[in-house]
Amino acid sequence: MAAINGKLESTIIVSGLHIVSTPIGNLADISLRALATLRTSDLIVCEDTRVTAKIKSAFAITTPLLCYNDHNASKILPKIMELLQKGKIISLVSDAGTPTISDPGYKLVNSAIQERILVTSVPGASAMLAALTTSGLPTDRFLFLGFLPTREAAKQKTLKALNEFRATLIFYESAKRLSATVKTMADVLNPRAAVIARELTKKYEEFWRGDLTALALKTSREREKKGEFVILLGPPQAAEPPSNETVNQMLLEALGNKTLRDAATLVAQETGLKRSDVYRQALKLKENIIKTE
Ligand code: SAM
Repeated sequence: MAAINGKLESTIIVSGLHIVSTPIGNLADISLRALATLRTSDLIVCEDTRVTAKIKSAFAITTPLLCYNDHNASKILPKIMELLQKGKIISLVSDAGTPTISDPGYKLVNSAIQERILVTSVPGASAMLAALTTSGLPTDRFLFLGFLPTREAAKQKTLKALNEFRATLIFYESAKRLSATVKTMADVLNPRAAVIARELTKKYEEFWRGDLTALALKTSREREKKGEFVILLGPPQAAEPPSNETVNQMLLEALGNKTLRDAATLVAQETGLKRSDVYRQALKLKENIIKTE
């Protein structure tokens, strides 16, 4: 079923290649159209049959699976094209989220288009959009860069080329490389706001927000944290300094379980303000609290 002009209409699933998004953590994010398409397909082309088998069993889907990835593409792609040319309904899924976004499938989509085979989208979750729309960073212009190169020199070169780019930058990164990558970003790029989105849509979803230098510190402290991460960097313009009220609020929260000195250090890191200024403000705040008690 699909909503058109506010009405639900029957979905007609025709032969061709269907690019079907699946959840990025929360199984309830699967769409009605995704389920109908996966059930009706003659074949589901997926990255890892063990991962997609879990989706199949969760939603009682019986469609057969075929593994397609960067390693076997040259052998498997012609087989898929043959089936498409025979008029089969084929769904492409990835392990999670939207196929082809930092996942295999681009060549298959391109080949189908070249052969004038219908290619259609069953849209749904993608970590990049879930992260961007909850980041609080500007969404009017953004650039998705996927995974940075793993070699340090290549990583630095890519980042340097982006330094003046006036848009929110979105990266994927593994838990293992997160801390090193955010440190490189802080070393190479001009100051800017940053957000790290962890475990989106899952039980331990969380967001780390602050300026890039503060987040480099935070990720080095949280090095043991596992999970999936999206890194978002705000555009390079000088960030508006937080208001006195915001700083007081942050200090009050930090003073709940920290000494005055530690609270001031933490808030200075999170806001990018000078530690001595934040410390003075914390002293004043504490004096006012004592006066009103
Ligand atoms: N095609 C997927 C999509 O549409 O989001 C992305 C696949 S890519 C191989 C996997 C990367 O996406 C992870 O390393 C992580 O950076 C990001 N990712 C996927 N799921 C996530 C989640 N639930 N929370 C945060 N990041 C996630």
